[in-house]
Amino acid sequence: MPLIEICNYIDGEILPIDFNQNTIPVYEPAKGVQYGFIQDTSEKEIGRAIDTAEKAFESWKNTPAEKRSEVLNKISHLILENLEELAKAESKDNGKPISLAKRMDIPRAAQNFSFFATAILHQSSQYHQTDNIAINYTVRSPLGVVACISPWNLPLYLFTWKIAPALAAGNTVVAKPSEITPYTAFLLSKICIEAGLPKGVLNIVHGSGNITGSALISHPKIKAVSFTGGTATGEKIAAVVAPKFKKLSLELGGKNPAIIFNDCNFDYTLEQTLRAAFTNQGQICLCGSRILIQEELYPKFRDALVAKVNQLKISTPDDPNADMSAVVSEPHLQKIDHYVKLAISEGGKILTGGKIIKMEATDYQNGWYYAPTVIEGLNQKCRVNREEIFGPVVTLQSFKTEEEAIELANDTDYGLAATVWTQNLSTANKMTQALHFGIVWVNTWLLRDLRTPFGGVKNSGVGREGGWEAINFFTEQKNVCIKL
Ligand code: NAD
Repeated sequence: MPLIEICNYIDGEILPIDFNQNTIPVYEPAKGVQYGFIQDTSEKEIGRAIDTAEKAFESWKNTPAEKRSEVLNKISHLILENLEELAKAESKDNGKPISLAKRMDIPRAAQNFSFFATAILHQSSQYHQTDNIAINYTVRSPLGVVACISPWNLPLYLFTWKIAPALAAGNTVVAKPSEITPYTAFLLSKICIEAGLPKGVLNIVHGSGNITGSALISHPKIKAVSFTGGTATGEKIAAVVAPKFKKLSLELGGKNPAIIFNDCNFDYTLEQTLRAAFTNQGQICLCGSRILIQEELYPKFRDALVAKVNQLKISTPDDPNADMSAVVSEPHLQKIDHYVKLAISEGGKILTGGKIIKMEATDYQNGWYYAPTVIEGLNQKCRVNREEIFGPVVTLQSFKTEEEAIELANDTDYGLAATVWTQNLSTANKMTQALHFGIVWVNTWLLRDLRTPFGGVKNSGVGREGGWEAINFFTEQKNVCIKL
């Protein structure tokens, strides 16, 4: 099979790769082989994409909201029309089961566009009357050219989660997907052309963080940076962007606790805890990787969880019954394995998993698969309980009281999401008040309402996405005061 060229989309055109410039190979994790290339887009070309977006800004900003909404809705429809192709591409790039991409990633990408296409029709501004002295009204305007940068775990889902509100609010965008999973962003370029998105309004550029990403965030014409990715990268980006007083939104890593009380609905909690641990091979920033179980329930829950994990089907992505498939890359596979070895050296006991696995199917034998892993016996001081692994690895700890659960859960540098499993409303209320996380789910996981604020505290980020939070981020307010 010839290698696929995954091209940049600048000024409404899909640009062929320039092989005289640097390129980056793109791999298919399920098979462990290269299947394509991207350009490692240079600073000069990024400058051109930004100039193009700047040129398109006035006209897009002045396009009536209804018209903007129409085009964005068309993109949403076309994503759904191409669901099959997009899901296969997402799986090829990321290693996830095709069935998961069909069920979760691609429908959500379509929903991101339709949600913000609709939201923008309902935007209103504020009005304040100062006694009989003055009236104030607040105008909200788009910022100009903004940068959106996304990670590899939910490629099209997170890419569109940023692009859609930025465009809906009237900005023009230069967006960079992860260099590890660029395929669906490329396919989105073609959809944007088909939907009639005006030239230059969205530009999709490919490349590494160090070259392309860094050129994008440091460009003087970029008015805001919306970033989702690792905490260490977020720190680097903040160091460049913050001193320039640009708007910055950072959605970063997590080390999320699942807190399970004796009185939980056992079967349901078990099923959902399994889902929260291993969906997408544990590569969701919201996955519950620290499972805290109340002492009395601990042995029963541990044994039942291990039995359930042993029933998970780890298979090739095209298997409709696959619960899990490949992890995203060879270095990531090694990172996961390194943390499991570290867990053993820290005194942890592997209850199941703990190893790289090989598929038997022809073509898939060199793929990057890791067995779902459950570890017990590590305390909260251990690195495995403190650092983000971002793979199919969970640890179990027990607690006696609500107070101890709160202490364990909050004893982390991260603060993205926590789940609480109890039938007792008072316990649930006490926990939700005390937990220091941006998102707390009670008796559920990954139940998302796109209107709600999304984001973390501490090292999990700064700012919120979702609903009006996103529209507000991508707009600037001006207050006009008129003396009566
Ligand atoms: P990463 O930080 O390595 O890369 C994310 C993106 O940033 C990529 O597009 C990359 O090319 C770019 N980048 C890297 N260095 C850059 C630089 N100096 N300047 C500009 N751009 C740069 O993250 P990853 O490994 O792709 O993703 C995994 C991480 O993302 C995990 O930590 C996970 O928790 C986090 N994540 C967070 C959320 C959230 O909503 N909080 C959601 C998904 C993933």
